Amino acid sequence: MLKQVYQFDEGNADMKDLLGGKGANLAEMTRLGLPVPPGFTITTEACMSFLNTTKELSDELKKEIDEHLSLLEKKTNKSFEGDKDLLLVSVRSGAKFSMPGMMDTILNLGLNDETVEQLASLTEDEAFAYDCYRRLLQMFGNVVFGIDMQYFENYLTFYKQKHGVKLDSDLTGDDLKSIVTEFKRIILEIKKKPFPQSAKEQLHLAIEAVFHSWNNERAHIYRELNRIPDDIGTAVNIQLMVFGNSGDTSGTGVAFTRNPATGENKLFGEYLINAQGEDVVAGIRTPEPIEKLKNDLPAVYEEFTRLAHLLEQHYRDMQDIEFTVEKGKLYILQTRNGKRTAQASVKIAVDLVEEGLIQEEDALMTLNPDMISHLLHPEFSKVALEKAVKVSDVGLPASPGSAVGKICFDAATAKEWAAQGEKVILMRQETSPEDIEGMVASEAIVTSRGGMTSHAAVVARGMGTCCVAGCSELEIDEFLKRVVYPGGQLNEGDVISVDGSNGVIYLGELEVEVTETSHYFDTVMAWAKKHARLDVRMNAETVSDIKTGLYFGADGIGLIRTEHMFFGAERLIQMRRFILSNSYIEREKALKVILDYQMDDFKEIFETLNDLPGVIRLLDPPLHEFMPTKEEDIVLLAQEMNVSKNEIERRLKELHEVNPMLGHRGCRLGMTYPELYIMQSEAIIRSAIEMKRETGLDVTPEIMIPLVGTTKELSELKEKIELYLDALMEEEDINVFYRIGTMIELPRACLIANQLAKTADFFSFGTNDLTQMTFGFSRDDAAKYINEYVSKGVLPVDPFQTIDKDGVGELIKTAVEKGRSTTPTIKIGVCGELGGDPTSIEFFDDINLDYVSCSPYRIPIAYIAAAQSTIRRASNNE
Ligand code: ADP
Ligand code: MG
Ligand code: MG
Repeated sequence: MLKQVYQFDEGNADMKDLLGGKGANLAEMTRLGLPVPPGFTITTEACMSFLNTTKELSDELKKEIDEHLSLLEKKTNKSFEGDKDLLLVSVRSGAKFSMPGMMDTILNLGLNDETVEQLASLTEDEAFAYDCYRRLLQMFGNVVFGIDMQYFENYLTFYKQKHGVKLDSDLTGDDLKSIVTEFKRIILEIKKKPFPQSAKEQLHLAIEAVFHSWNNERAHIYRELNRIPDDIGTAVNIQLMVFGNSGDTSGTGVAFTRNPATGENKLFGEYLINAQGEDVVAGIRTPEPIEKLKNDLPAVYEEFTRLAHLLEQHYRDMQDIEFTVEKGKLYILQTRNGKRTAQASVKIAVDLVEEGLIQEEDALMTLNPDMISHLLHPEFSKVALEKAVKVSDVGLPASPGSAVGKICFDAATAKEWAAQGEKVILMRQETSPEDIEGMVASEAIVTSRGGMTSHAAVVARGMGTCCVAGCSELEIDEFLKRVVYPGGQLNEGDVISVDGSNGVIYLGELEVEVTETSHYFDTVMAWAKKHARLDVRMNAETVSDIKTGLYFGADGIGLIRTEHMFFGAERLIQMRRFILSNSYIEREKALKVILDYQMDDFKEIFETLNDLPGVIRLLDPPLHEFMPTKEEDIVLLAQEMNVSKNEIERRLKELHEVNPMLGHRGCRLGMTYPELYIMQSEAIIRSAIEMKRETGLDVTPEIMIPLVGTTKELSELKEKIELYLDALMEEEDINVFYRIGTMIELPRACLIANQLAKTADFFSFGTNDLTQMTFGFSRDDAAKYINEYVSKGVLPVDPFQTIDKDGVGELIKTAVEKGRSTTPTIKIGVCGELGGDPTSIEFFDDINLDYVSCSPYRIPIAYIAAAQSTIRRASNNE
């Protein structure tokens, strides 16, 4: 029979698939001899078989749970049915990947009307016993019976107000008794069923509820956002309760072994005395910083510091630890690798290597490539800050970044506005898992309650979104949709600027500027470059973009688009003259002028690139894109060209195409007007010649012919260009080395790649067009239905964002194999958007491309992804 339950001392950290992250780490810590309350874990397999079959606990599973419960009773010398010292447990969910706040936990399970009295007399603390019971009723009512937490919370608030009690911990035994009575009434009224008095029944219902919670809406959304599979299930941990709510030498807290916002190597956390469970993160009372524990409970503080260090050394990464103190005794309830901001992630990676704890390769693997882009986020400009008016400066810097946006007070509005292209800032008293979609859509999150480990703070750091938490001087009214601050009032839709690095909020829109990268970032990038097998080039054509790309270490340019070079006012006229004229001579004249302009551009590019390679794509878009559409512009053009308006309109009609993306563009233009491609090639080579003469610099231009679908297109154009260029170099009596290759963006080109490789000096995959042509999706219109396809599971991902391995990927793979079968050394790269996507980069590395190319700001991401891919392949081959 399949084993479905494991005692903590039967597992270890490598069993995350089966025991979930929480369970595997509880087992590992038990093995290490840490003070972990004993317990057992029901496997993720048990969860999946529950969800895939009757959705009831099978008799075998119940029996196995019973056996482990007896074992736990023996270990603790307590009894679950309450005939001697009472055994209370927590029921804790825990999937393989941590899903903060997404699944539900129940504490103090096992209490009922009788045993609560027993607990009260045993501990001589009625308030404590009834506090545990009211918490159980609340969590059980919510998680198992699906009753909105608000019913309980509202009553609690009402009761405290009525009796003039400020804090939960000030409630007396009698207070809590009547609260318990009311909570039971709420359950009966809403669920039409009493709270179950049998401890076993409570346990079974709780386990089923945790299993079911795998499929709740919040969990689905979180998994979708984080690309966690839907079929791995959650484990359930059943663990002896320890009580942080049993007096002034008890408490509960969470701490990171290093600062998760900055990476500083210093314990960072919060705790509350006389509190239980989620009190710290729920923002009910404002928690104390961990350093204060040194005064409150010095021995506990010292012990905690020691264990935190030990855990960090053992896991060789920054840890996020949950702990509880019961009457002066410390217990560790959870540890995991801590989530951190991008800024912290590079600092911690570099520090851990310097401390000798890990190797460069390990450090690179801890980074999230997509998050690295947050490090390149701009900051508010110094000039703007000098004049800025503050809304508040008392908030906590919970997640760095500088954001500007319109404020709104609920997640639905945030989502709606963002969908319309607005930048929004979500303001809430505190956030909860229901707000997740609104948080994702927001530029920044601001809360008036809660600490550095509140829901808002943790989630924002995880997403790399700017966040200011616990901004207590703001009176946020979610109902009236306004916020009162010391200097006035703001309403929904007003614009603010939020600085998550220092917790300051400003009125109106502040200007932003790009920041310099840190020493840690630079170090990590140098490692990535060193370890990545793939080269990373940039897609760029302006000098400032090229400089940005070079700053991030690009190995050259993978795509220089030449069409923008035709758009300056004077050039556009010449281009239009070229398009409108009927005679070869006229066209030649127009091209001569354009040639001079193009030379200026190319020289600038070559000079900036120095000796790095650059791929220049010859003109690609259909000609109508260069023509005016508005009536008045057409009239103007007619005057300028000295032709009739009718004449222009006639030509426009000729140029009109039903499907321009499938039309007269790419090399098809070159086939019709070879002089166009020859002019561009001449400009390229003349610029290279001038560079060589003026500076001695040897550039090797790579000329790329787009949209090739037949061998003839490539061979004819290449031959024409070569003939011309050879004559030119002979005339100039100088030699420049150049290559002529092709962009592969049609399925047909993939299939004849062996023939194309006979002519082409290089291949570069244009993944945008190739995806469009393979699926038959118009990339300009497809967003409408692609999102729907992805959410319904028709497509696993948007193929314009992440490679469609089975279709487009297979075509690329075929083309690579065919191309190399003709010319084994042919250089092959990717220059579409997918060149900057980590998952796609891993695929391109696996099929042995030579380089990827992406926009300059994605280069760091691409490098990290490429390095991780190389490291992963090496470790797979070991
Ligand atoms: P989450 O995954 O949402 O963090 P947990 O299962 O870690 O949920 O439980 C939340 C909190 O409940 C813990 O941080 C801890 O404070 C408290 N808790 C859980 N189990 C126990 C226990 N056995 N004894 C005391 N407190 C517990
Ligand atoms: Mg939690
Ligand atoms: Mg936890």
